[in-house]
Amino acid sequence: MKRFLGPLALSLAAAACGAPASGPAPATPADLALTHVTVVDVESGALRADQTVLVRGSRIAWAGPAGEARVPAGARVVDATGRYVIPGLWDMHVHTSREGRALHFWPQFLAYGVTGVREMGSYLDSLQHWRAQARRPGSGAPRIVYSSPMLDGSPTSWRHGYAVADSAAAVAAVDTMQALGFDFLKVYNRLSRDAYFAIARRARERGIPFAGHIPQSVTATEASDAGQRSIEHLSNDFYLNCVPGGGALLARFLAARAPGAPADSVGPALNRLLDAMLAGPVPASCQPLWNRMAANGTWLTPTLTVSRGQQPPDALVRDPRLRFVPPALAARWDSGRPTGEDAVREERIAARRAQMVALAHAAGVGILAGTDASDEPYVFAGSGLHDELALLVDAGLTPLQALRAATLNPARYLGAADSMGTVAAGKAADLLVLDANPLQDIRNTMRIFAVVAGGRLIDAAERERLLTLAQQEASRAVNAPPARQDD
Ligand SMILES: [Zn+2]
Repeated sequence: MKRFLGPLALSLAAAACGAPASGPAPATPADLALTHVTVVDVESGALRADQTVLVRGSRIAWAGPAGEARVPAGARVVDATGRYVIPGLWDMHVHTSREGRALHFWPQFLAYGVTGVREMGSYLDSLQHWRAQARRPGSGAPRIVYSSPMLDGSPTSWRHGYAVADSAAAVAAVDTMQALGFDFLKVYNRLSRDAYFAIARRARERGIPFAGHIPQSVTATEASDAGQRSIEHLSNDFYLNCVPGGGALLARFLAARAPGAPADSVGPALNRLLDAMLAGPVPASCQPLWNRMAANGTWLTPTLTVSRGQQPPDALVRDPRLRFVPPALAARWDSGRPTGEDAVREERIAARRAQMVALAHAAGVGILAGTDASDEPYVFAGSGLHDELALLVDAGLTPLQALRAATLNPARYLGAADSMGTVAAGKAADLLVLDANPLQDIRNTMRIFAVVAGGRLIDAAERERLLTLAQQEASRAVNAPPARQDD
């Protein structure tokens, strides 16, 4: 499998040279020691009690029984008796690179133990700008894997999309985005079949992954077979790929939505589509698609937080985390809440998506935890990833399986399982120390005692500082209206 993480993987691999794998640590140099902690092995599900984790620079230098640890003089010692340590979490679907979001998103990611994120696209110039900012020493950014702008048909769905009109343009776009140093390509809704398959071919030739939405011109099975690395959101379009007659319903809807079509035909067409989707149980005809995705190694990022935010429970509408949301955006979320029939439909859609996650997971599809933190209603940066973990458990995954979706699975997806994803010597020192066992109750991931990000300890005082900063930056942020091309 093609490695995903050029610079990140290389820097971690270089740093790993000379790290002792196990055994007593006679004078292991270390800057930080977490002592007497219970390590949660996210691979096996085992709990290893009374361990010490030594951190040197940005890596774990040694991890093993506390009784065998030799904590060097001068290391900062954090007594973690009674606490649990898990690998730092990844949010595999965020949009940080617009409207100054990075300034309030980054501190929230780190404060909530989200030490890595996969950026899923923005304007070309703003992606480049924020990528350069993130790479500056002391930037306060988590690890970020960068998508190209969304490669889309012409006209693009969003103003920040990148139009790829045909297969020649597709080849040029792949080459351009790779030359600009993006880690992967994001594919999007309006790509033509020709352009999509040309991207897939060229990406394979050039060894750059592509991931994202399934364009309306291809089926989910075709996308999986073409080598798309991940499919995002469990969208209605995606679901209709396996609903009998779904393809025809989708075509009718798209025709109704086409430019020039009478506006009043869109609503009824959409409702027919959704009602068909929600009638009865998830059809057995979806099973071959899950099987195919599992066989092809196509990952799924369900972003259940997005569905929940469409019909937010009362507690979410009053959530104290709204203080981290730009006021104009919070007002938009509030006024945009559906009512009546629409609210009921949104609730049924959310429930249906949860069922689909369970079925896909049972079929062996790899699940990635992602939130779509951007301006999606009631999706919070950083803490929203913990919401997603809880929603995955509500959908039927065990707490361990949900934790893997944010730790080991992202490491495997990124081809970097040798340098991150578990708590072990030689791995990145990205850690989350919890006051309670997350395998007992996934909501315990929010009981955060401390975070270690790239070897840097973020204790309670530092978390408080980061959250205050996030609140200040959010209150200053100007939030632009949605940037749909056809609005
Ligand atoms: Zn997104």
